[in-house]
Amino acid sequence: MSDEGWKRRLSPEEYRVLRQHGTERPWEGCFLGTKEPGTYVCAACGNPLFKSGEKFESGAGWPSFTQPISEDAGTEVEDRSFGMVRTEVRCARCDSHLGHVFPDGPPPTGLRYCINSVSIKHVPEGEPIPLVTE
Ligand code: FE
Repeated sequence: MSDEGWKRRLSPEEYRVLRQHGTERPWEGCFLGTKEPGTYVCAACGNPLFKSGEKFESGAGWPSFTQPISEDAGTEVEDRSFGMVRTEVRCARCDSHLGHVFPDGPPPTGLRYCINSVSIKHVPEGEPIPLVTE
């Protein structure tokens, strides 16, 4: 989708985080305490990203997951912005920015996928995944 297309489709905050690699403020995301069973999908394109069972309370201020729903759900890219070396996580389907992955998560993976609430949507268990096509 073109940049203009994303601008039309997404809210200004979604556009800033998903398409301009922004970060929502900590402790303000709508999915911080969510425990309902289901699937978290990309807020831009609907690509399934994380299962509710992999979500945990990290204390970091953003929704956190121990692993993605599948190996090819996201892509990981080295991010050297702000004088840090971090691993950025993007949606493999639409290349939108989701958050970062850190090597300080709980077992079994030891990973913490630190994801912006604005980058994901929750689809309750049993409901269809709303994949966006152009
Ligand atoms: Fe996507």
